Amino acid sequence: MKIICIGRNYAEHIKELSNERPKDPVIFIKPDSAVLPKEQDFFIPNFSNDIHYEVEVLIKIRKVGKHIDPKFAHKYYDEIGLGIDFTARDLQAQLKEKGLPWEKAKGFDGAAVIGKWVSKSKFKDVNNLNFKLTKNLEVVQNGNTAQMLWGIDEIIAYVSQFFMLKKGDIIFTGTPSGVGKVSPNDYLSGSLEGEEMFTVKIK
Ligand code: ZN
Repeated sequence: MKIICIGRNYAEHIKELSNERPKDPVIFIKPDSAVLPKEQDFFIPNFSNDIHYEVEVLIKIRKVGKHIDPKFAHKYYDEIGLGIDFTARDLQAQLKEKGLPWEKAKGFDGAAVIGKWVSKSKFKDVNNLNFKLTKNLEVVQNGNTAQMLWGIDEIIAYVSQFFMLKKGDIIFTGTPSGVGKVSPNDYLSGSLEGEEMFTVKIK
């Protein structure tokens, strides 16, 4: 199983980090060891003083495919989820400055929170899903999949030109604005269309 993440997919988030708007989707990969085991707390790693939450809508790939046409992309996933792309922002800034890959800042142990999965048939339109993240019961991120620069089908089509998609692969579709730091004892909760999808305690 691999985890493919899309960076800079929401205009307001690009602005808050003073990044350039990309011509093509920005892609990076997290190893399967990055998945935070269910019900486990997130421990802030000792190599960072600035771990950020990024809440993101997730897609679970249901069958193998490559060079997928956007008009058939919907056949490659049945389930939608919500998760967190934990990012060591200080480390990422150093790597970005030197033009180096982001993996250490994005792919460390526990950096991928994957909540529960919901059948996409439950939703009228996957391109109009509201989701949010609360930190200590206060809303910190609020997004809608309609705000994505590249929608789900376009992401699947684009990614599959480079990486063969396999059953069980997970795509993180990018974060809206409002990213911020976590501290010990913080309590995060993510919801999709009003339904709680995950909770995480920070240690
Ligand atoms: Zn992200």
